[in-house]
Amino acid sequence: MATKYVYFFGDGKAEGKGDMKNLLGGKGANLAEMTSIGLPVPAGFTLTTDVCTEFYKNDRQYPAELKGQVDEKLRQVEKLMGKKFGDSKNPLLVSVRSGARASMPGMMDTVLNLGLNDKTVQGIIEQSGDLRFAYDSYRRFIQMYSNVVLEMDGDILEHILEQMKESRGVEEDTKLTAEDLKELVTLFKTKVKEEIGREFPDDPQEQLWGAIGAVFGSWMNPRAITYRKLNGIPAEWGTAVNVQSMVYGNMGDDCATGVAFTRNPSTGENVFFGEFLINAQGEDVVAGIRTPQPINKAGGDGTLPSMEEVMPECYGQLMKIQQILEKHYRDMQDIEFTIEKDKLYMLQTRGGKRTAKAAVKIAVDMVKEGLISEKEGVLRVEPEQLDQLLHPSLDPKAAKDVIAKGLPASPGAASGEVVFSADEAEEAAKIGLKVILVRVETSPEDIHGMHAAQGILTARGGMTSHAAVVARGMGKCCVAGCGDIKVDYKTQQFTAKGNVIKKGDVITLDGSTGEVMKGEVPTVQPELTGEFGILMGWVDKYRRLRVRTNADTPHDAKVARDFGAEGIGLCRTEHMFFEADRIMAVREMILAEDLEGRKRALSKILPMQKGDFLGLFREMKGLPVTIRLLDPPLHEFLPQSDEDIEELAGVMNVTAATLKHKVEFLHEFNPMLGHRGCRLGVTFPEIYDMQVQAIMEAACELVKDEGYQIVPEIMIPLVSEVRELAILRANAVRIADEVVGRYGVEVEYLIGTMIELPRAALTADAIAEEAEFFSFGTNDLTQTTYGLSRDDAGKFLPFYVEREIFPNDPFVAIDQAGVGQLVKVGCDKGRATRPNIKLGICGEHGGEPSSVIFCHQIGLDYVSCSPFRVPIARLAAAHAVLLEEQ
Ligand code: PEP
Ligand code: MG
Repeated sequence: MATKYVYFFGDGKAEGKGDMKNLLGGKGANLAEMTSIGLPVPAGFTLTTDVCTEFYKNDRQYPAELKGQVDEKLRQVEKLMGKKFGDSKNPLLVSVRSGARASMPGMMDTVLNLGLNDKTVQGIIEQSGDLRFAYDSYRRFIQMYSNVVLEMDGDILEHILEQMKESRGVEEDTKLTAEDLKELVTLFKTKVKEEIGREFPDDPQEQLWGAIGAVFGSWMNPRAITYRKLNGIPAEWGTAVNVQSMVYGNMGDDCATGVAFTRNPSTGENVFFGEFLINAQGEDVVAGIRTPQPINKAGGDGTLPSMEEVMPECYGQLMKIQQILEKHYRDMQDIEFTIEKDKLYMLQTRGGKRTAKAAVKIAVDMVKEGLISEKEGVLRVEPEQLDQLLHPSLDPKAAKDVIAKGLPASPGAASGEVVFSADEAEEAAKIGLKVILVRVETSPEDIHGMHAAQGILTARGGMTSHAAVVARGMGKCCVAGCGDIKVDYKTQQFTAKGNVIKKGDVITLDGSTGEVMKGEVPTVQPELTGEFGILMGWVDKYRRLRVRTNADTPHDAKVARDFGAEGIGLCRTEHMFFEADRIMAVREMILAEDLEGRKRALSKILPMQKGDFLGLFREMKGLPVTIRLLDPPLHEFLPQSDEDIEELAGVMNVTAATLKHKVEFLHEFNPMLGHRGCRLGVTFPEIYDMQVQAIMEAACELVKDEGYQIVPEIMIPLVSEVRELAILRANAVRIADEVVGRYGVEVEYLIGTMIELPRAALTADAIAEEAEFFSFGTNDLTQTTYGLSRDDAGKFLPFYVEREIFPNDPFVAIDQAGVGQLVKVGCDKGRATRPNIKLGICGEHGGEPSSVIFCHQIGLDYVSCSPFRVPIARLAAAHAVLLEEQ
């Protein structure tokens, strides 16, 4: 049987269904679904994503059957609409839109009014009786088609339009007369010919296939590729193309077009929310050229009349439809509609993009409303998205110099230096600068800059403009439609209420209020109660993996506990050695001539270390705490400047020259593979002895004097050979037992190791003889498995990721095929020797969702991550369980 490449929808019947997104794309599947459930959808058909895949497989050739199938469906649409494509009496006009599985800014989006030429325009005049409308549609078609299909710079024709408006002394397109528009059509066509060297295509069939080709072609344009990369969308998915009969929002004041969300996409509030424009076509709303009106009184500020007021009947109908859609899809929907002569048509529905705040509120509310289950509620929030919620907002007590106010398009607060182009934003971010991207409005071409910027400020555009929608998706703070500012790209500055802000000046945005402020305004941490607390309660009910934190100070430990950490999985004690009041003693210890000298220096550090551990244990209130003994290469602690060397020489009573010599001697060519980790412990046992003593004294003291229950976990880093661990374990046991005996209390302790070298993973069965727990140090394990320096990879790794040589940065998301397999081998071997061995991970991967899911799958007991990632890891751990159940 021939492959079916084209699916029809119209008049209550559709060949496709809502769950066919892979084949029909999101838009096509939902148009089919809306048609089937009886909503008013203009008839049309969808060319499948298979066509796109075949197209690229066969050197940009369509499958042979395609043409015949398109013709057949086009005839079906003609029949239903009682119109004919290309007819001069009663022509059918169509829209052509792309529609991938996931919504994809950056691709060719839409061509409207396709099928118009000098003959068919006569038919439109005859049918509509509206000369102005006919020519307005025609000139729009030429503009869109020449831009997106013929790839002419959109500004060229826009400029002619602007000139026309200027010469007629009008500000809005709607004020141009039929004659003006007719003249524009001629001017446009002449210009197109001049630009592309041939006539604007008149044949509707040629127009149709041109537009279809442009959609498929745009799947591989650089903007679409960038977007896919940022969002992890595989190139193999392909896009579908939707061809649909036109309905007109620009036929007069009883016509309109709009975009709406079934709930507020910024706050999640359960209020129908949207914008519309009278006498306009769909793209006018998205482009943000005219200021849209609110859909209802609740969503406006009273300055512009709402649809609820000016088109009450259509509003009532739309209200009902949005309720049907939300119940049907059981999720917040983002819908597009058009009103033609007081008749409402639905053009699109899809799951609405939302801020993290809204995602959490909507999930919790929908569970309460009985629309979805608790488990579904948990799956509705993406772990990575929570990051937005955990970030600071402006300190309400801070002074702020507000210079402008726009729309609160995407919440959060951000400060940075002003830049005016996406490229500049990207360049600046590369060298570590924080920038705010300021644009008149944004377009898909700006995605890379928006990604690089801390926040986005636009002068034009509403809550559904490109900037607003994209920023919300990215979780970036955005103030849109800020009419108070006048942006001048030429002079690289903007003005706002008498203030001149130049490129490089610092401003602050508040995406929750729409305020723009001069300079940097301090921020405060978020409150994690309310819906967030409820959701996290469910999360904790379903997850199996425990979540600990990597924390070295009582303050970090407190932050992490507030975020729900269930213990410390890694305390890096080297950070304690760097403290200003200790570094001298540490240096003395390292540079001491003999054991006696080292012991003298260590005895100065001991009470400080003990104080550190007392603080940590107290803060963690009996929760497990893993303390890692000193890891980094010694030379990191050494004095570098001459002054420092001289000062230390004075303290140590040696000459500066002797000291300098020693410093040079300790220098390493490859410190990551040098004298670090347990190798320090083996060669200078007194360092670890001191640390074990400090840990155990702190624990015993708290148990004895303050009634705590503490089981310290002492962790040895960078073990590659079990004998290293055997030696260090014996030393630690000796010291620990001595301390416990001295205090006369019962304190248990565990001794374990990090598995962070391939040899350790491969010999984990032997190592487990000496270890009561393993913690996978996947930072070093990634470094050593790939032979990829953690400190130097930044110079070439981005290139590898960009070229898709590596699917991800392996230091961010665990490389499941390689490093992950070593972790798995380590777990299996460890358990084979010691079935109840505790297994965790404390590399950066412990807070990255896909890695957390992997850790669940291979059966780790816990993950440990930085404090701010604790809620993300908790949610990912719950997702791991729930995805397994699906
Ligand atoms: C690791 O290597 O994964 C680890 C947690 O240790 P560090 O990052 O301190 O080397
Ligand atoms: Mg390490």
